[in-house]
Amino acid sequence: MRAVVFERYGEPAEVREVPDPRPAPHGVVVRVEATGLCRSDWHGWMGHDPDIALPHVPGHELAGVVEEVGALVTLRRPGDRVTVPFVCGCGSCPSCAAGHHQVCERQTQPGFTHWGSYAQYVALDHADVNLVVLPDDLSYATAASLGCRFATAFRAVVRQGRVAAGEWVAVHGCGGVGLSAVMIAAASGARVVAVDVSPQALELARTFGAAECVDAARVPDTAEAVRELTGGGAHLSLDALGSPAVCAASVGGLRRRGRHVQVGLLPSADGMTSVPLARAVALELEILGSHGMAAHAYPELLELVRSGVLRPDLLVTSTITLDAAPAALAALGASPGAGMTVVEPWT
Ligand SMILES: [Zn+2]
Ligand SMILES: [Zn+2]
Repeated sequence: MRAVVFERYGEPAEVREVPDPRPAPHGVVVRVEATGLCRSDWHGWMGHDPDIALPHVPGHELAGVVEEVGALVTLRRPGDRVTVPFVCGCGSCPSCAAGHHQVCERQTQPGFTHWGSYAQYVALDHADVNLVVLPDDLSYATAASLGCRFATAFRAVVRQGRVAAGEWVAVHGCGGVGLSAVMIAAASGARVVAVDVSPQALELARTFGAAECVDAARVPDTAEAVRELTGGGAHLSLDALGSPAVCAASVGGLRRRGRHVQVGLLPSADGMTSVPLARAVALELEILGSHGMAAHAYPELLELVRSGVLRPDLLVTSTITLDAAPAALAALGASPGAGMTVVEPWT
């Protein structure tokens, strides 16, 4: 098959022929029809993820068709149209047994713990536990967003963040996860303040339902700006980018008893991230983390997509070929991009 391969961190990846993957006994091989470019792929390429072994094929935000199933797979068949959460649970550890596959103790992640979906085929583990069957009318490009950004944002806003209609929600960082979070929070009846350094990202955020925007390139103190716009602070605030400064701004923009959800990954290279915990004590803030979403939680999300309440299709702004993927991956560092670029490996 053809795949995007890198041999060294931060050096140009290339498209080349590599052996087709084989399914594990409990796994499948999926023919990749669409895979999204996510900033986490860029972090992986830069060497920020200790799980990655070289040479490596990135890609974790995918949709496609089951091509081959392992001997122990009972629920899925070749021909099934599927996506998969970027965190694949083992299905049998105590966390999975409790339904928390997104924090599985033996989790695998395509594109991190093994070769990913910037390729014509990808192997996925524990298929009966992790594969999500797609509605017939959902396109592969749109479905790819459900593997990472959209499902991640859904769980961060709705489950961990416990958004309620009428609340103010601040979304710091309007890349893939952030724009998804803006749309999901607005659809939940919340009033959204979007914060980003990119005017294009803020424009998209407004399109997706943000009531207010803060241009972080022009406003020196975004926490203060959020507190002003929201009459005292957001009820719920997300760091959807993943940086110590953005995390601090998110916590700083909360009102009393507000909830901060850290959803942007903080690269381990940054070490410990300081959080203004004194403010958390004095204002009784909640500091929460959110990490993907388990496959069994998808039906609620898929129903909201089917009914048109949520429109992940609007996130997809461009589609590219596999040959264009290495340059697009490298470009994610300088400009994370507001919309979603989808790679179609068979075009
Ligand atoms: Zn991702
Ligand atoms: Zn597990």
